[in-house]
Amino acid sequence: MAACWSCSGTVDRDGLFCESCGALQPPRLADHFARLGVPAAFDIAVPALERRYFELQRRIHPDRFAARLPNEREYSQQHAANLNDALQTLKSPVRRAEYLLALKGRPMRGSGQETVDDEEILVHAMEMREALAEAATPAAADAVVADARGQAERVTKELVTAFAANDLAGAARLTLRLKYLDKFVEDARERRRP
Ligand SMILES: [Zn+2]
Repeated sequence: MAACWSCSGTVDRDGLFCESCGALQPPRLADHFARLGVPAAFDIAVPALERRYFELQRRIHPDRFAARLPNEREYSQQHAANLNDALQTLKSPVRRAEYLLALKGRPMRGSGQETVDDEEILVHAMEMREALAEAATPAAADAVVADARGQAERVTKELVTAFAANDLAGAARLTLRLKYLDKFVEDARERRRP
């Protein structure tokens, strides 16, 4: 429970509005999962997450508070920014996995450093790049990218299992693999853009 800034009444920590006076409350929730009202787990349904996001954005939209008190205007902007951040983080499997690992106290190392001890992942990424560079026809290049997409899907499924078993070391390794696969698919798409 917390105290309403406006009337000092008690409000739920996850309540957006005070039930006594109706004032919009400041953001009090600590993480993106709580902000979007879903359990802190890797296996979440993105369409449901998006529906929840739009519902909350509608309720706290800054336009609604243009004529209200300065506190509420500020809180509505903070809520809106938090919700955007929460959706962007949680809808991407890689970012969701990284965020969840950090939340569980096992953050991924800084960018670039992961590559040092994960040689196997690095070699595999290099092989995929070679296969793409050597593809003689657009169809052959498409097949290489489709294969990487298929691998990314499998790794995402394995991440569900790893997080469900609370195997954080395994999850961290899978997250790194997924990062490389996503980057490979993204780079391949960039290259083909006219
Ligand atoms: Zn109040």
